[in-house]
Amino acid sequence: MQKYGIIGWPVEHSLSPKMQQAAFDELRIEATYDLLPVEPSNLENKVEELKTAGYSGWNVTVPHKSAILPFLDVIDPAAAAGESVNTVVNRGGELHGFSTDGYGLEMAVKEAFNLEIEGNRFLFWGTGGAAQAATTHFALRDAAAITLVNRTHNKAVSLKMRLEQLSSGCEISALQRSESERLKECLTSVDVVIQCTSIGLRPDDSISMPLDLLPRHTKIVDMIYNETELLRQAKAFGHDAVNGSRMLLHQGAKAFRLWTEKDAPVEVMQNALKAVSS
Ligand code: NAP
Repeated sequence: MQKYGIIGWPVEHSLSPKMQQAAFDELRIEATYDLLPVEPSNLENKVEELKTAGYSGWNVTVPHKSAILPFLDVIDPAAAAGESVNTVVNRGGELHGFSTDGYGLEMAVKEAFNLEIEGNRFLFWGTGGAAQAATTHFALRDAAAITLVNRTHNKAVSLKMRLEQLSSGCEISALQRSESERLKECLTSVDVVIQCTSIGLRPDDSISMPLDLLPRHTKIVDMIYNETELLRQAKAFGHDAVNGSRMLLHQGAKAFRLWTEKDAPVEVMQNALKAVSS
């Protein structure tokens, strides 16, 4: 029996066990996928423990995506550039780290809007771990422009500097939320806005971004898996807008492929996600 799982703190809310177990069962792979709560102070020990216990691989979620890097043997160059790992593969005791979040978002954008990364303009509202991984992927995939807006502006500025080192062709800027005229001007040329803050997770959360500044043609992805108030209002205003469930699905499908070297049964995984989130 092979062993997989997801480490995070907290991690009980994760939908990945249902999605990944359904995929293993569909392909008749004898494997379990466990929820593995790991306190930040215990990360290094836990990584060693999982290796010794014979785990073939695991997913990594908040708050360990960057913190796990020093404990891995080989890091995929894109994951290293984004300083974020969400998938670990144990290859004979050697731990390899990857990030599949950017790919998940790429697929979500492609499926929802029939839009490629290359040549298009994106605005990321929030520059936490998920945005860091996604913007790295988008810069490496030749987005025409990436604009970063974050509550803590200096985090957006340092991400901008890192992205500029990865891509010379992509126009990268960091704007303050208070610069409404510059924001408005920038938003007129943006193809997709991606909401990557954690605002919207709770039902009583306010809306994180100024929808009134967005032209109606702007497409919106909210990384949060549920239908948020932002999405409800954006749709009412006429925007083409989707939640993060397809991103979750595709980041998971790519992790599954990295572990098993088999095509992931994406439809089965999607049905498993629907069953737990409805
Ligand atoms: P994170 O690293 O904790 O980053 C949180 C982000 O939210 C930061 O930009 C932070 O800004 C901002 N923020 C938090 N509270 C705020 C507030 N009150 N007002 C304005 N901004 C606020 O989290 P993450 O890992 O990037 O995840 C972000 C979201 O993406 C979460 O909702 C997560 O569930 C979702 N996600 C979805 C997927 C998927 O597959 N669909 C994958 C990964 C993440 P500061 O820098 O100023 O603190």
